[in-house]
Amino acid sequence: MNILVVGGAGYIGSHCTRQITVAKHRPVVLDNLIYGHRKAVAPEVPFYQGDLADQALVRHILRTEKIDLVMHFAAYTLVGESVAAPIKYYKNNVVRTLALLETMLEEGVRKFIFSSTAAVYGMPDKIPVTEDVRKAPISPYGQTKLDCENLLAALATAHGLSFAVFRYFNACGAAEDGTIGEDHFPETHLIPNAIRAVLGLDPALNVFGADYPTPDGTCLRDYVHVDDLSRAHIAAFDKLDKPGTQLHFNIGLGHPYSVQEIIKAVETVSGKKVPVTFGPRRAGDPPELCADATRVRAALGWKPHFNSIESIIESAWRWHSINPKGFN
Ligand code: UDP
Repeated sequence: MNILVVGGAGYIGSHCTRQITVAKHRPVVLDNLIYGHRKAVAPEVPFYQGDLADQALVRHILRTEKIDLVMHFAAYTLVGESVAAPIKYYKNNVVRTLALLETMLEEGVRKFIFSSTAAVYGMPDKIPVTEDVRKAPISPYGQTKLDCENLLAALATAHGLSFAVFRYFNACGAAEDGTIGEDHFPETHLIPNAIRAVLGLDPALNVFGADYPTPDGTCLRDYVHVDDLSRAHIAAFDKLDKPGTQLHFNIGLGHPYSVQEIIKAVETVSGKKVPVTFGPRRAGDPPELCADATRVRAALGWKPHFNSIESIIESAWRWHSINPKGFN
């Protein structure tokens, strides 16, 4: 199949693009390179630099590349920034997504895979979180993702769009060969920040809160390797043949680790101490998030290759040690 990967030069999009090639499909990337990295996409993959809401450009790509299915990773994802700058988030994450979907439907492309987030649940009533748990986002970021999910449902009913939504818990890790990995600026995620502290790129890892109602006082999260997450997306391709199909999947390993446990695992993998400081809680962080991933395993036959936190961190450690300055 010919797959348009919107945001294919970003962290998750670039890993997914590589897995699409491994799975013998043909990826085409559209990315505006505001946060993405040209070097994250192999030179042989057709690459378009531009905006997903540029309807003339997207129409041109859909036609000339004979696109069968669109995957959409091009979102802004910082919870704190979304609170401070909601217009930026609604414009990019909702308005531009609407334009992309409109172009697709006009061109008769009716298969779509959407990267969503556990942030749609807010503070979930039940852990591990199943897909039918009440959605109550506590940030504009989470709300924009939920708005898109609702839009997809309306388009499925009205226009026969078939879609799969993946609600990510904590995507992490890097390609096993160390050639692509996580490179955000600013970096806000725990594993890269812990590794940066070990490598001396930051003075220390600041732990956001050690007074949570959890066994060691730090937050619990469900970490899943970015390549495993990508393979789940690809497994959904052939579930979208029937017009109007609507699929929703949580994606995580179903095993929570605390911030302290992640620090320990980074120390085991690197053989070095993580310099740590303790600060206040970060606004909007729920104490615990963990996926019930029964549905994705049953419906898509998904089996993660990276089942231990150490194996995930090893891949991230390799990437950051080889490329301390990321893609630059
Ligand atoms: N965290 C931390 N220091 C950091 C980055 C993250 O203590 O520099 C904590 C954060 O508060 C959360 C967990 O690590 O409890 C995972 O955060 P991350 O930003 O990696 O992912 P999120 O769960 O927010 O999607």
